[in-house]
Amino acid sequence: MRINTDPVLKEFASVFTNNGKQIFLVGGAVRDMLMGKKIHDWDLATDALPYEVGSIFRAVNGKVIPTGIKHGTVTVLYKNHSAEVTTFRTESEYSDGRRPDKINYALKIEDDLCRRDFTMNAIALRLPENEIVDPFCGAKDIKKKIIRCVGKADERFNEDGLRPLRAVRFASQLGFEIEKNTLNAIPPALPTCAKVSWERIRDEIEKILASPLPSCAFLHMEKTGLLKLYLQELAVCRGVEQKGFHQFDVLDHCLLACDYAAQKGYSQILRMAALLHDIGKPDVHRLDESGVWTFYRHEEKSAKMSRIILNRLRFSNAFIDSVSHLVGEHMFLYTDEWSDTAVRRFIARVEEKNLEDIYDLRRCDTYGFSGKEPDFRCINRLSDRVKEVLEKNRAFTIKDLAINGNDLISIGIKNGKMIGMVLRELLETVLDDPAQNTKEKLLEIAGSYYQKIN
Ligand code: ATP
Ligand code: MG
Repeated sequence: MRINTDPVLKEFASVFTNNGKQIFLVGGAVRDMLMGKKIHDWDLATDALPYEVGSIFRAVNGKVIPTGIKHGTVTVLYKNHSAEVTTFRTESEYSDGRRPDKINYALKIEDDLCRRDFTMNAIALRLPENEIVDPFCGAKDIKKKIIRCVGKADERFNEDGLRPLRAVRFASQLGFEIEKNTLNAIPPALPTCAKVSWERIRDEIEKILASPLPSCAFLHMEKTGLLKLYLQELAVCRGVEQKGFHQFDVLDHCLLACDYAAQKGYSQILRMAALLHDIGKPDVHRLDESGVWTFYRHEEKSAKMSRIILNRLRFSNAFIDSVSHLVGEHMFLYTDEWSDTAVRRFIARVEEKNLEDIYDLRRCDTYGFSGKEPDFRCINRLSDRVKEVLEKNRAFTIKDLAINGNDLISIGIKNGKMIGMVLRELLETVLDDPAQNTKEKLLEIAGSYYQKIN
């Protein structure tokens, strides 16, 4: 295979070789290159020690930042490009199953490749010659689309409990199979997997969601026990039956919804919302008198549980708020009988900025009934109605009211909690009848409401 590398990368490499140092492209970049993909990150491995990398690059006006100095990694900025440069290393003991106790620098690239997780990730490209170093036949596994541990899978998983999750992540990201021994080594490694920090698990889950077929990873997780360990709330959705339009149990339904979001290129927020939108169902499902399963107010329960799960996984507050808001609002049942007031209340509840997302979430949900491209006419009609209503008026939040808190204080309403209460009441009035949104009318309504409740 002919390999072409970026001329700037070659120049980068020559800075090392001119100083008598070896330099290799390693990791995902080599894998992606062998798969014919464009490479995005430059991960380099060298025999130069981090301080040597520093002095070599400062001498040619480069910048060196000690981003991961504990692991022997520095970031080099040179000619408008950046690269992560790590000194060859082997890893010694992993007494906690989370991270190596200490780093030992190595002299040869082959020793550095030994510590890597999968054969496809343990290939190096010597620069500037573009010579492949592939001691574990990773290129062959890439061709056969196989994920296989470097060395003995059980030992490698017990060294670092994140590796099983990485294996299933790569399966969905690349569409590869996990080799039998590698897959079979996951269940016995679960106690080690349980020690991994939630931050590292989150990073992998983000990559699973960003992949073309997230369900592939989640189903592997289910079979191997990883789902029960990290996303137990999702694991218990297996076998929770639904009736009516649904053809699938709650777990398959959620996975289909999530795959649909991925296929459509929706945001990470939507992909997560699709995955979790029915997570509360196992908790609230009841058989009614006629023997039909009901899931009364499952969206509220699902929103609450989404918060708990995403908090545990250390997602940002903004992400958690967005996902749980969408999950909590996903159960609207639009019909053409909805009055304008009903449409306005829907907009106020969902909030204008989330409207497109809530339609998309509903599309994912609807797809999850059957796994086939469904009829979206109902959502499209709601979207048209919403547009009409939005054209007619724009008062959907307290900020849109023709008066504010100070106006209320000026007519004698006590500052504090009461102001918020009166403003919310006024918003309800305006959602019912937008014609009331004038200063005089609202002050009048506020005055009589205040008298009534005081
Ligand atoms: P991506 O395209 O998602 O970045 P990647 O293969 O580059 O995939 P990274 O997490 O960026 O994955 O890691 C870079 C390289 O470091 C991997 O290709 C692998 O060789 C090595 N590596 C990363 N994490 C581990 C780990 N937990 N155990 C062993 N080797 C690892
Ligand atoms: Mg990478």
